[in-house]
Amino acid sequence: MATNVSGPIQAVVFDLDDTLYLQETFLDAAWNVVAEEAARGSDVDAARWRERLTYFSDLGSDKGGIIDRAVAELAPRVLIADLVDTFKSFRPVSLDLMPGVRESLAQLRANVPIGLITDGDVEIQMAKLSALGLTDSFDVVVLSDQAGREFRKPSPAPFLQALDALGLEAPNVVYVGDRPDKDVLGAHGVGMRAYRVRTGEYRATEGEIPPWREASNVVEAISELLGLIGS
Ligand SMILES: [Mg+2]
Repeated sequence: MATNVSGPIQAVVFDLDDTLYLQETFLDAAWNVVAEEAARGSDVDAARWRERLTYFSDLGSDKGGIIDRAVAELAPRVLIADLVDTFKSFRPVSLDLMPGVRESLAQLRANVPIGLITDGDVEIQMAKLSALGLTDSFDVVVLSDQAGREFRKPSPAPFLQALDALGLEAPNVVYVGDRPDKDVLGAHGVGMRAYRVRTGEYRATEGEIPPWREASNVVEAISELLGLIGS
């Protein structure tokens, strides 16, 4: 449905994690804080906690149970719930965008409206935007968890919400994201063109359907999109 459309590009909507910044930078900072807390409540030092938490996280941050597995291995009497609370309440002070992203977004926004769709705990995602200095960088921001976890990408709901807020039709909007299973499938499902970027945890993962286009990072994607927009 989406692969044949070629209307003018009237807006570009982005994913956040692993598209505009590396999620690993957020997770590493969060695991540091959890490791310190776990060390205070056990005979195992923070470095060892950090090593195991990072190890399980690297096996797949989406799989969950990272804290549970580290606790089971290192100190089964430590209370998992307390560490989960520590993780959930972690708020980064600052996070780095990938190189050139701020300038590229500003250049694109000078030509077309830009939006953001992000999954995850609403307060954490808002804190990431603040730590990245992106709070006022988009015309439209959709936090899919505000409607409920069942409306996370690839649900059509957050994509339709963004289109509605932009007042545009799907064929005229390009969606840029890193994950084939969430970003490419979700955008394709509502008829948007999906631009895949090969950054972050899923950079080597192949998807079920080919994206409209792909690039090695978001700055390259924006550069190409600017050429297509005719700026
Ligand atoms: Mg992502």
